Amino acid sequence: MVSRLILILGDQLSPEIAALKAAQKGDVIVMAEVADEASYVPHHPKKIAFLFAAMRKFAAALRDDGWDVAYTELDDTDNSGSIPGELLRRAEQYGTSEVIATEPGEWRLIEALNDMPLKVRQLSDDRFLASHSEFEAWSKGRKELRMEYFYREMRRKTGLLMEGDEPAGGKWNFDHDNRKPAPDEVDFGGPMQFTPDDTVNEVLELVEARFSDNFGELRPFWFATDRGQARRALTHFIRNALPKFGDYQDAMLRDERFLYHAVVSMYLNAGLLHLREICEAAEQAWKDGEAPINAVEGFIRQIIGWREYMRGIYFREGPDYTRRNALKHGRSLPPMFWGAETRMHCIEKAVEQTRTEAYAHHIQRLMITGNFALLAGIDPHEVHEWYLAVYADAYEWVEAPNVIGMSQFADGGIVGSKPYVSSGNYIAKMSDYCKSCAYSVKEKTGEQACPYNLLYWAFLDRHRDRFKPNPRMAQMYATWDRMDAEKRKTILSEAETFLNRMAQGATV
Ligand SMILES: Cc1cc2nc3c(=O)[nH]c(=O)nc-3n(C[C@H](O)[C@H](O)[C@H](O)COP(=O)(O)OP(=O)(O)OC[C@H]3O[C@@H](n4cnc5c(N)ncnc54)[C@H](O)[C@@H]3O)c2cc1C
Ligand code: SF4
Repeated sequence: MVSRLILILGDQLSPEIAALKAAQKGDVIVMAEVADEASYVPHHPKKIAFLFAAMRKFAAALRDDGWDVAYTELDDTDNSGSIPGELLRRAEQYGTSEVIATEPGEWRLIEALNDMPLKVRQLSDDRFLASHSEFEAWSKGRKELRMEYFYREMRRKTGLLMEGDEPAGGKWNFDHDNRKPAPDEVDFGGPMQFTPDDTVNEVLELVEARFSDNFGELRPFWFATDRGQARRALTHFIRNALPKFGDYQDAMLRDERFLYHAVVSMYLNAGLLHLREICEAAEQAWKDGEAPINAVEGFIRQIIGWREYMRGIYFREGPDYTRRNALKHGRSLPPMFWGAETRMHCIEKAVEQTRTEAYAHHIQRLMITGNFALLAGIDPHEVHEWYLAVYADAYEWVEAPNVIGMSQFADGGIVGSKPYVSSGNYIAKMSDYCKSCAYSVKEKTGEQACPYNLLYWAFLDRHRDRFKPNPRMAQMYATWDRMDAEKRKTILSEAETFLNRMAQGATV
């Protein structure tokens, strides 16, 4: 007779995960590859393979440490297909009704565990810096929940980049140094890549057999799948790319998929790396004089600032968050997001690299695909499901606030005080996409006009009542209002034609 089941989910692969810390000898650890989790959106095959391989290796490491692990593989004949189903099956098998879990990162599973006819205790996930109650306390009474102020709290709390009570380098935020356009040459060859071992190869065959219809290339598969490899990938980034991370954080290049980005979010979110070790490695590089403050501060801000803030918003806003649609956008996501032909070179390249790598960096997600979806008025829930499916690091707690909040403004301005929209000018400035595009970024109207140029003004016009009073958008409206009336009419009518053609399935 076993005392309790200890549930470890696929994104909880940390030796210090709360449920494991609460486990005792005599408990059984339950891990399961289940169809429900693998298919509630059509996940990228690389994402599924990464998680299953990392789970199998984590289970093997637990067994080596002496734990009793009940592991269900996807193809096991008695696999019930869901996490609650597997818990019930194991509870019966081991004669126990007690489960210890670490709170999952999405409402769907939290509720499913709460509804189980077993005694399930969900412990808070203390791999994060801010607990739900701490975030709640910080946000209470604030009119606006601005990330910057939350971030300063996290700096104070962790002591990262602090000199006593003051921020290192005399400033909290070095962002104004971090907006350089794309460099002519990139001297970083990208993230460390790993040759699949036997465990990974077995999983690749399984994923090939079961998920080959999903959008995304499974091979070549190069992700780290255990903690040791993920640590090496982190060190590789800190040594070779971090020094220029800040400068080129917002840049985009058609032939450089990773630029100077870390490509560690999938490891961090699945539990292979801990945020502390990532931030401390970056801080050490600054202390050792190997990386400048603007790079290190910018990098640490993403992790202890943005990432924690996004999680806080997700749990604060509740289960209906992914259904928000403040701007009442209802168009369908066009097939070009799934790889159909498009004349828009920036979208073509961002989608192509998403298909091959299950990765795009922040500015591609925000200012290429996200910006287009927002300008075109795509249903934010469809946009959310796309992002959740196609990126290897996507889990609802972090993806939804980034998409529903930051990118689509569907939460009405909780995450962002204004929508992240731009015309083609911004893309031309920060990337080299426009040089190879069938459209011309310089054309504001006419057949060759960059669609972002048309849709940008149409968006502002469509949402005039909401955004005109926003002081941060006054300049945009002043420019629009100064434009010749005939020109404004042409832009609006061409934007309409573009959207209608897209809706009818034309290649745009
Ligand atoms: C529309 C949209 C959707 C996104 N969806 C996800 C998602 O599903 N999962 C996810 O982890 N990130 C998401 N992000 C945030 C960000 O794009 C990714 O974390 C980042 O691109 C991961 O690549 P990297 O490790 O190379 O990051 P780097 O650029 O090197 O940044 C370092 C780390 O900072 C953290 N980070 C940076 N920005 C954010 C942010 N806005 N929110 C949370 N963490 C951040 C990540 O952990 C990342 O690994 C999204 C952003 C946008 C605009
Ligand atoms: S011209 Fe417009 S559509 Fe083409 S790459 Fe530039 S921004 Fe994208």
